[in-house]
Amino acid sequence: MLNWDELTKLCTSCTNCSLGASRTNIVIGRGNRNAPLMLVGEGPGEQEDQQGLPFVGPAGKLLDLLMDALMIREEDYYIANIVKCRPPANRIPLEEEAEKCLPYLRNQVALIKPKIIVCLGATAMKYIVSKDARITQIRGKWIERKGYWIMPTFHPAALLRDVSKRVPMWDDFKKVKRKLDEIRAENTGNGQ
Ligand code: URA
Repeated sequence: MLNWDELTKLCTSCTNCSLGASRTNIVIGRGNRNAPLMLVGEGPGEQEDQQGLPFVGPAGKLLDLLMDALMIREEDYYIANIVKCRPPANRIPLEEEAEKCLPYLRNQVALIKPKIIVCLGATAMKYIVSKDARITQIRGKWIERKGYWIMPTFHPAALLRDVSKRVPMWDDFKKVKRKLDEIRAENTGNGQ
């Protein structure tokens, strides 16, 4: 496992797939590296590519509103993506691109050691939970795996296109907030 500096250096010089050739900036992640909660999206969009930070465009703004409403603060989470370079025209990352990039995400998870991982959308769910699952069927249900609580839910960009997803996504995030509070209470009880 690489430390943060080693990982950042490696990602910044990565040319393992063709996405590296067209990126403006690599988008590694942002947030608290010791957070109990990790959110994983699909891949950087235009604004993310420009700024080198995940979820700073329209989908990110919507996510911010959701987090604010639930009182999940910025220091409570770390956010990253399945792929770290922007796919052309924001297309879904190809399997070979995702597979080449996943070791970086795994390294991030190993460094952060979150208690909860939220998969934002079908692409994150595919590579973190199962290639065969469908987001509409498994969203909102906790999956306990390898010591992590995993919550698949919709991608915030899907909410921008389809308002009917707002209530289910809100419900899923309420579960995340509840779990976060439970984990905090347990840690406080243990004197941590
Ligand atoms: N969509 C994503 O999946 N990730 C981002 O960083 C921005 C939009």
